[in-house]
Amino acid sequence: MKFLRYGEAGQEVPAMMGPDGVIRDLSAHTGDFSGEAVSIDNLTRLAALDLESLPVLPDDGRIGCALADVPNFLCVGLNYGRHAAEIGVEQPSEPVLFSKATSCLAGPNDDLYLPAGSTQTDWEIELGMVIGREASNVSVADAMSYVAGFCIVNDVSERDYQMNHGGQWMKGKSAPGFGPVGPWLVTPDDISDPQNLNLSLTVNGVVQQNSNTEDMIFSLAEIIAAMSRYMILRVGDIIATGTPEGVGLGQKPQRFLRSGDVMELHIQGLGQQRVTIC
Ligand code: ZN
Repeated sequence: MKFLRYGEAGQEVPAMMGPDGVIRDLSAHTGDFSGEAVSIDNLTRLAALDLESLPVLPDDGRIGCALADVPNFLCVGLNYGRHAAEIGVEQPSEPVLFSKATSCLAGPNDDLYLPAGSTQTDWEIELGMVIGREASNVSVADAMSYVAGFCIVNDVSERDYQMNHGGQWMKGKSAPGFGPVGPWLVTPDDISDPQNLNLSLTVNGVVQQNSNTEDMIFSLAEIIAAMSRYMILRVGDIIATGTPEGVGLGQKPQRFLRSGDVMELHIQGLGQQRVTIC
C-alpha cells in the first residue's frame, strides 16, 4: 500500500493510494502520519480498510512530506562505493552516521529556496526507510521486520557549509527545504526487494545519478542493526541510506544548483519528486 499526506503545507491529511491510483482520505480512521500512526500495526490496520468506502481526494493537489513530526532524521554517509571514490575518500569499515535537522523536511514537489549566500547546494537521491516499531540492539537477521516502509529522500547538501565551517556535516544538511521526502510511504509488501531498486536523479532533464541499491556498501539490514546499537530507533524515524555517485561535488568541473534548475528524482516503486530551485 502507498500512504501519503495530502493538502497545503500545515493542513495535510493522511491518505492512501490503492492499486487504482486513486488518492483516498484516511482522516476519519487515523491521526496524521507521525508517531504511532506510522507503526507497522496501524499501517496494517489501515491497509485492510475497504478502499471503496473512503472519500476520494482530487489528484491534482499538493502532496506533503510523507511523515509529520519526525522524531529523528538519520543518515548514512558514503554508502555506495563509487560515490566514495568520486569524492576521493576510502570506503568506511563501519556505517558513517549523521543527522539532518527535522525542520528541513519538505514535500516531494515543493520549491527549494537556496540558503542566503549559498554557492554549493548539491543533490543526493537516497532510498529512505521509515521505522515502524521501536528498535534497540536488533540483529541483522531481524532488522527488516522493524521497517514500516520506504520512500524517496533527497539529502540536499550545501557543500561549503558541510565541509568548510568546522564540526559536523549537519551544518550543510539542514537548511529549510533540504529534506524532500515522498511522495509516498510504500509498505514492504509492495517492494519485492529493496536491495535491488533502480534510483535516478536528473537536473534539467540531464541524468546526474543513475544506480541501484544493490551497490550499497552496508545493506539496509546492516544499517538498522548498526544504528540500533548506538541509539533507540523510534517509530516514525526516517533513515536516509546513502547516495550513489553523480553528485555535483564529484563532477569535474563541479556543478551546483542554481535558481531555475529543476531536479527530478525517481526510485523504482516509490514514485518521483520534482523540485524547482528558487
Ligand atoms: Zn546523503
